[in-house]
Amino acid sequence: MSLLQVRALGKSFGGVKAVDGIDFDLQAGELLALIGPNGAGKSTTFNMLNGQIRADRGSVKLDATELVGMRPRQIWRHGVGRTFQIAETFSSLTVIENIQMALISHREKIFTFWKAAASYDRAEAMHLLEQVGMAAQADRPCASLAYSDVKRVELAIAIANHPRLLLMDEPTAGMAPKERNDLMALTKRLVVERNMAVLFTEHSMDVVFAYADRMIVLARGRLIAQGQPEEIRNHPLVQEVYFGTGKTFNLRKSTESMHDA
Ligand code: ADP
Ligand code: MG
Repeated sequence: MSLLQVRALGKSFGGVKAVDGIDFDLQAGELLALIGPNGAGKSTTFNMLNGQIRADRGSVKLDATELVGMRPRQIWRHGVGRTFQIAETFSSLTVIENIQMALISHREKIFTFWKAAASYDRAEAMHLLEQVGMAAQADRPCASLAYSDVKRVELAIAIANHPRLLLMDEPTAGMAPKERNDLMALTKRLVVERNMAVLFTEHSMDVVFAYADRMIVLARGRLIAQGQPEEIRNHPLVQEVYFGTGKTFNLRKSTESMHDA
């Protein structure tokens, strides 16, 4: 059985069917890309999976446990993680202190002022930082890091509680192509090492085709295609959605952002 089973999942805002009854599965150890033009319903799908938005209909099962109706915190406890941007208030903390905060949150310890974060779980936090290649910068304030390094720390925070499924909505937004590739290569390695499932959105088709194990394509709230990157590249409906009917545009050669298409 699949780790995640999404069935007939739907959400409307007023008259707009943001997500219109979608079905897909996700396996442990799989890096699944969710692509689609602006407004296709990608973020709404993510937010139904993490509990921030309550689905109008349908089902989301993680290992046979129904997640629809659960609060975000409950869903997180069941092993569905997501990447967060490091809040401004935490950017004055060092890299390792941010990881330690995440570990504390995992154990549901209340942060107490008589016991500084620095005394918690330093070894475990260092281990996480090693996994994302940030150990050497452990004691720098997050505010002093390069943008792509902040993204690595955010990834370490997201995996601190060992999610079985990690949700990444536009993880590489604002990054240069080389950095996008590095972050996705790192994500791919974590997927394999941890047998973790990842669902991600990404605008660069080069990155998607290079790293996704499988892809699902949304357009106007509907799932119009799913399959291996190779199948998606050549899928007529996908080409139509991105490049308009009749064009013989080759997705393979495209380096365009989905938003520009
Ligand atoms: P994507 O992430 O693929 O760009 P979204 O899931 O953000 O798409 O949006 C899907 C559709 O739902 C769009 O038409 C958008 O305008 C609409 N929508 C999303 N969130 C809301 C909301 N909170 N209120 C009203 N409409 C929304
Ligand atoms: Mg979005």
